[in-house]
Amino acid sequence: MDFELNEDLRLIRDMAREFAEKELMPRATGHDRNGTIDPEVFEKIGELGFWGLTTPEEYGGAGMGSVALSVVLEELNRACASTGVTVSVHNSLLGTPLGKFGTDAQKERYFPKLATGETIGAYCLTEANAGSDAASLRCRAEDKGDSFLVNGEKVWVTNAAWAGLFLVYVRTDENASRAKGISALLVPSDTPGLTVEKAEKKCGIRGSATNVVQFSDVLVPKDALLGELNGGFQVAMDTLDGGRIGIASQAVGIGRACLEASIKYSKEREQFNQPIGNFQAIQWKLADMSTRLEASRMLVRQAAWTRDRGAPCTQESAQAKLFASRTANFCADECLQIHGGAGYTDDFHVERLFRDARITEIYEGATDIQRLIIARKLLA
Ligand SMILES: Cc1cc2nc3c(=O)[nH]c(=O)nc-3n(C[C@H](O)[C@H](O)[C@H](O)COP(=O)(O)OP(=O)(O)OC[C@H]3O[C@@H](n4cnc5c(N)ncnc54)[C@H](O)[C@@H]3O)c2cc1C
Repeated sequence: MDFELNEDLRLIRDMAREFAEKELMPRATGHDRNGTIDPEVFEKIGELGFWGLTTPEEYGGAGMGSVALSVVLEELNRACASTGVTVSVHNSLLGTPLGKFGTDAQKERYFPKLATGETIGAYCLTEANAGSDAASLRCRAEDKGDSFLVNGEKVWVTNAAWAGLFLVYVRTDENASRAKGISALLVPSDTPGLTVEKAEKKCGIRGSATNVVQFSDVLVPKDALLGELNGGFQVAMDTLDGGRIGIASQAVGIGRACLEASIKYSKEREQFNQPIGNFQAIQWKLADMSTRLEASRMLVRQAAWTRDRGAPCTQESAQAKLFASRTANFCADECLQIHGGAGYTDDFHVERLFRDARITEIYEGATDIQRLIIARKLLA
């Protein structure tokens, strides 16, 4: 058994780390305060090839898998979780299902621009009344011969403001029960009737774009169907198996930033005539943070490795997300506590880490939904 990253992965990790430290860390506070990501960051991610990390090589991508993506995402999220989730959604929630379920024509049409970042991808599953219970979605696609006529509203769509391509889950059979009547459609952003609306004002990851997306009489040709007609729920769930590894990697990145900030501050801050790191109460916090982070990374790597082998990874990815997201919040809480009053102000980036960590327990399946998935597997 080898716990080392191979040479290719070490190379890509080092590239991601250098980019994150030089380009993202100095911008992360600005991204948070301005509620957007600098356009130069999008360009530089394109130059490094991270938009196309998982795009097959024949379409201009790096053709790498889940392990590589998780390694890169940990580094990006350590610096800026807003940028991290943007890259995660693009690769894992749009690129991966296109590669797995797309026709050759769909791949030829979309992959080259997705690989460079000229087109950014978004994933529209959630609706106002269909969150954890995604199978109850109501956005409709009526059969109009050569096309579908799509009507409805999607909420919480990450990347919507800058997306060129949306993967949209719609109800194509009103008579089929719940998950059985759902299909997945690839819808370009310039399709008439598709509008990006309300931008959410969020607690954390404020630089990332999260919007409501409206579909009003949107005509979508039948060849936009991704996977089988009425087979969309399987596409959505398989995609989330991969997406959750991305969010678990995000959680490890945020947790690592918390640990690093805590170590630094513990050495610098003096009380009772000594660095607070001399106190055992602080040392135990650092030890627990580090141990939980290492365990989280192991779970993430195991889930990513399982997915790259083509084996089912639903339980592994749910376990990785459950544990890593709890760990990120544990680390963020301890980090803020170690910083005392200073951590509670925006003089330090610690309060941003605290806010950013929170989302990892909510999106791509809330914590209790991960528990439900794991328990269902155990009891099957
Ligand atoms: C910033 C952000 C970005 C997002 N990006 C996207 C995106 O790009 N695309 C997309 O499709 N969606 C996206 N989402 C939506 C996200 O996936 C949902 O918010 C999430 O699945 C939870 O749904 P909900 O918010 O409706 O909560 P609800 O489903 O209403 O859940 C509320 C609470 O009830 C609990 N709960 C619900 N059902 C059960 C149950 N059976 N057992 C135990 N507890 C339960 C939940 O765990 C949660 O704690 C995003 C959300 C946010 C906040």
